[in-house]
Amino acid sequence: MEVTPNHTQTVTGWAAMDESGKITPFVFKRRENGVDDVTIKVQYCGMCHTDLHFIHNDWGITMYPVVPGHEITGVVTKVGTNVAGFKVGDRVGVGCIAASCLDCEHCRRSEENYCDKVALTYNGIFWDGSVTYGGYSSMLVAHKRFVVRVPDTLPLDAAAPLLCAGITVYSPMKQHGMLQAAGSRLGVVGLGGLGHVAVKFGKAFGLNVTVISTSPAKEREARESLKADNFVVSTDQKQMQAMTRSLDYIIDTVAATHSLGPILELLKVNGKLVLVGAPEKPVELPSFPLIFGKRTVSGSMTGGMKETQEMMDVCGEHNITCDIELVSTDRINEALARLARNDVRYRFVISVGGDSKL
Ligand code: NAP
Ligand code: ZN
Repeated sequence: MEVTPNHTQTVTGWAAMDESGKITPFVFKRRENGVDDVTIKVQYCGMCHTDLHFIHNDWGITMYPVVPGHEITGVVTKVGTNVAGFKVGDRVGVGCIAASCLDCEHCRRSEENYCDKVALTYNGIFWDGSVTYGGYSSMLVAHKRFVVRVPDTLPLDAAAPLLCAGITVYSPMKQHGMLQAAGSRLGVVGLGGLGHVAVKFGKAFGLNVTVISTSPAKEREARESLKADNFVVSTDQKQMQAMTRSLDYIIDTVAATHSLGPILELLKVNGKLVLVGAPEKPVELPSFPLIFGKRTVSGSMTGGMKETQEMMDVCGEHNITCDIELVSTDRINEALARLARNDVRYRFVISVGGDSKL
């Protein structure tokens, strides 16, 4: 492992060392707290399906050892002399971004997520050339631009997944006008970490929400606990046909390769589908449902920093948190195995240094 000169702080973390995907304790160095930096004692870190993709090198871009984790909440323990917005003791969060150029048209609009020099919170290359390590670790040093405040009303454990799952669905919902379209009909494909937050945002903003799922066992809680208006089993052709041309928008959060054809048929003419799920192989996109319904397919990647803070504040106002299963650090592998087989309601959160409720 290459050592960068000012990386002097020893940190305990959990890393995958190779494609076997096994997570083991890993001690590494982080940079000293710079003038623009905030040091955070990590309390909780959500386990995103993206962590699984990186751990197993699904996308062919993993730099081992990889310390995953980009749904991080904790408490500030140190701030640099140029930091005005945060103080020691503040409850904060860090999501998917560690750095961006801060100067391009996207950074100036606080769309740092679309900066072509963006460095992700883990498996990214930071300004000093070091590889970034994520939130499966006891402590984090983050540039102030990429830290958000967590409203006092939100618990740090159930708020952690908002830093990725939350903003990843909030951003396209806002950009495509869904949050200003009460009464419109939204479909959410895949009821996992991202999907269950999309349902919550949809209901908070007055949309009529249909869950489109491969798991009939999720129907009851989708309706009763998440307040979904409708539930369709995507492998049941009759149920799918009954929904033809019924939805204004669809958010597709599925982590596995699948065909968009049957899903597109559910959209009304001019309907919009946003892909946020990132399967390792291309999804099948037949042209007929696009052409005959004048439908649009687009993508979206997490969100910018201003929007992430806004999303956190909206969650504070509407009391939106994630449905989580808290796991201790010695059960990370078990949780990853369950996440891989779609056995989680709806997000694992690692209790890294938080109060133990385990
Ligand atoms: P997750 O919790 O595992 O949820 C994914 C859901 O997809 C599952 O709950 C399941 O829902 C459905 N699913 C799983 N296997 C399926 C299959 N073979 N066919 C059809 N549906 C299947 O994952 P997540 O953390 O929400 O992440 C979802 C995807 O989004 C991942 O690929 C992740 O990398 C990506 N992601 C993208 C961004 C971005 O910026 N665009 C950000 C974060 C994550 P049902 O049981 O209801 O079918
Ligand atoms: Zn994520």
